[in-house]
Amino acid sequence: MATRFALMIVPAEADEERADFSDSFRAVDASAPALSVGELSTQRGDGVFESIGVVDGHPQEVEAHVQRLAHSAELCELPPPNLEQWRQAVAVAASECPRGEAVIKLILSRGVEHGPTPTAWATATRAGDFTVPRTDGIRVVTLDRGYDIGAAERAPWLLLGAKTLSYAVNMAAIREAHRRGANDAVFLSSDGFVLEAPTASLILRFGDRFITPAPSGGILHGTTQLSVYEHLAARGFDAGYAQIPASDLAKADAAWLVSSVRLAAPIVAIDDRVLPIDPLTTEINAFLLSPR
Ligand code: PLP
Repeated sequence: MATRFALMIVPAEADEERADFSDSFRAVDASAPALSVGELSTQRGDGVFESIGVVDGHPQEVEAHVQRLAHSAELCELPPPNLEQWRQAVAVAASECPRGEAVIKLILSRGVEHGPTPTAWATATRAGDFTVPRTDGIRVVTLDRGYDIGAAERAPWLLLGAKTLSYAVNMAAIREAHRRGANDAVFLSSDGFVLEAPTASLILRFGDRFITPAPSGGILHGTTQLSVYEHLAARGFDAGYAQIPASDLAKADAAWLVSSVRLAAPIVAIDDRVLPIDPLTTEINAFLLSPR
């Protein structure tokens, strides 16, 4: 899907208080080159990003996304972003989104090598059609991520809980899943705990209890998982966090991968185990498509 709109942002200091940041934005031709060849985002994947779902021009869960952008920036020791400036950038990008589903990306990189400031930009693109994964489900395979459950705490420089631009490993995991005949992957720690998917969070259902891997430094805390939990709580379900041994995957009654743009994709097979599509899936996706 071609990018429809791109906005270059001159990043403001985090504590700069202004009602209007519009003079720090510059809309550029989304089909033309806009970055310097010295950009560390492209040379080293040195930066952070967010993908925000947009439905009929309404950007979903903006606050959770800009807060997570700031958290990722902190983990990467990037200058703290000015959240109000990013909120306003999201509003400008959203006003350029077509009706239906779209995605806004926010990118904050370390900038040009030896340059004075980070580089920041936002884009808006029409979203792909996710009807099939949402309704027919997806097959996943488990893949060893190669780190034990304590790695993030022991080695914070791995940036495991940050949404960095270094997603080559995540994309390689999805290609491996495809090679194995699946649509997506679920990472396991090397000591056998369930983590997350390369671009989504995992939610499991056991009877009337819903569980997702406990947010730790090792996984990204998903904004969609938080929204689904809000909905489940309102419906009276028990939804919580736990350290989940991989052996529990075989006992789940249902499972989903959830993320901001694909939303809730029910899992119909984990490795060789077949799972039914939970009837709650339809209402979860209806909730995720409603303005949040
Ligand atoms: N985990 C990882 C590694 C991700 O990349 C993503 C989203 O891209 C998620 C989880 C889900 O996050 P969200 O629901 O905020 O999109």
